[in-house]
Amino acid sequence: MSLELEELYQEVILDHSRRPRNFGDLADAAVRVHGDNPACGDEIHLSVKFGPDGELQEIKFTGHGCAISLASASLMTMKLKGKSRAEAEGMLRAFHDLVTDETAEAPRTLGDLRMMQGVRKFPQRVKCAMLAWRAVEQALLQSAGEATISTETDFAAPRRLVWVESH
Ligand code: ZN
Repeated sequence: MSLELEELYQEVILDHSRRPRNFGDLADAAVRVHGDNPACGDEIHLSVKFGPDGELQEIKFTGHGCAISLASASLMTMKLKGKSRAEAEGMLRAFHDLVTDETAEAPRTLGDLRMMQGVRKFPQRVKCAMLAWRAVEQALLQSAGEATISTETDFAAPRRLVWVESH
């Protein structure tokens, strides 16, 4: 990656962490997920409202944390708003590969989220970047109610459930 590009990425991440988009609470949320990344001290409260076809009609978050966790949550909500479940699950998979898999090419569908690719070099930062995605994963899994998740919990089993394409 060129230095100019890396600097541009830094700027976008800082901008999103300082002025997170879709920041707030949905009064009529169908599901609320509270996420915690104790390794860094990041916290997220995600609320999601589903549309008539099960799409993610509204998605908002509050919380606090490092620049990576906030920027990832901000970019994620922009990306997932209005998307179908299948699309959201696809994004989740693609983003997880982007930040963990050395060989994964960043898919174009991820748009600005591709800027998070650099975190794969820093295992502790991967948890920061994944926190919001773990939360939305849980939101999709249960569709209603309230839940608490932590990056310190092994998510291998529930993730596979979500990742089965549902029709
Ligand atoms: Zn963090």
